[in-house]
Amino acid sequence: MDMFSKALKNLVPYTAGEQPRDSLYVKLNTNENPYPPPAPVKAMLQTLDVDRLRLYPDPLCRTLREKLGKLNGVPADMVFTANGSDEALSFCFFAFFDGEKGCVLFPDITYSFYPVYCNFYRLPYRTLPVSADFSIDAEAFIENAKISSGIIFPNPNAPTGMYLEPDRIASLLERYPKDKAVVIDEAYIDFGGVSSAGLLGSYTNLVIVRTFSKGMSLAGLRLGYVLASPEAVNALIRVKDSFNSYPVDYITQELASAACDNPDYFKEIQMRIRDTRDNFTRDLRALGWNVLPSRANFIFASKDGLTGKEIYSKFREQNILVRHFNIERISHFVRITIGTPADMDLVLKTAASLWRNNHD
Ligand SMILES: *Cc1c(COP(=O)(O)O)cnc(C)c1O
Repeated sequence: MDMFSKALKNLVPYTAGEQPRDSLYVKLNTNENPYPPPAPVKAMLQTLDVDRLRLYPDPLCRTLREKLGKLNGVPADMVFTANGSDEALSFCFFAFFDGEKGCVLFPDITYSFYPVYCNFYRLPYRTLPVSADFSIDAEAFIENAKISSGIIFPNPNAPTGMYLEPDRIASLLERYPKDKAVVIDEAYIDFGGVSSAGLLGSYTNLVIVRTFSKGMSLAGLRLGYVLASPEAVNALIRVKDSFNSYPVDYITQELASAACDNPDYFKEIQMRIRDTRDNFTRDLRALGWNVLPSRANFIFASKDGLTGKEIYSKFREQNILVRHFNIERISHFVRITIGTPADMDLVLKTAASLWRNNHD
């Protein structure tokens, strides 16, 4: 016997990408943004009132939620904020999925935190295979609607970068039961996809999860948010208040608000990343790699005859960090975050010299 709970022993934590403590590496393994936050965010940090830290922050993040609502064309009571979108996702699993109603549905190849939350909250789940081209099969959700308590998937999907068109999502929402949640994790929506936020007015069971970590260059700040009906937002506030009244601290509220005031800067760097991604995709294909079409700030690629682990290890020896997954169907792929054009040139040159084609 020891002091540890059975629940603890049964936990299977998510494995995050490596976060090395030195800056030896060109770090293209956790989809961070290569560009800094805008100058007004830095200026805001410098003017923050340290004495204010004596007090608790606004537990309801009212100013920030107003701003996020304006940016997304919804009122503040349709916005919920959390300490990173992983926390927002976790609250969604607790609030909207119910083992007695059925299982949680998600694609077999997707964000590997979803099964971790299911285990944490003891929710049954069923994974549905993505199509042969790795696109999400929206019809499979409909076919399994009866046995489900809800759906969750990222759009664009991770780690594939594959994007589900808005008309497919509208059709899914139209046919899926209205008393079961459809949670769309839009962590990568800033890189060329169209958000499903426009459908919130028509479907009260739609829940959209967003993050400041990728498109907004603020992974270190820890801010995620949810766009959903006022009832769903109240449900998430109830969960938050049963866990931690103040998950979003004062500094985060102020800096994230400053970020919201500078949407043009973010559009500009997101556009730059899209251009770099499209050029890198073309150039890597020219070297004989298979690259899935990505709408995210990373690409998912493989090269015949190599495993993902081999590619990862060879790049690592050259101080380039990418991510590979020991998961069936994708073990020969690596996920490469899109950095600056100079980062991607280095990846291309390194790939070209590591794996020369047989004829040269
Ligand atoms: C990065 C990522 C998140 C987590 O983002 P945080 O806001 O940093 O917690 C959530 N979902 C997906 C699909 C991601 O790739």
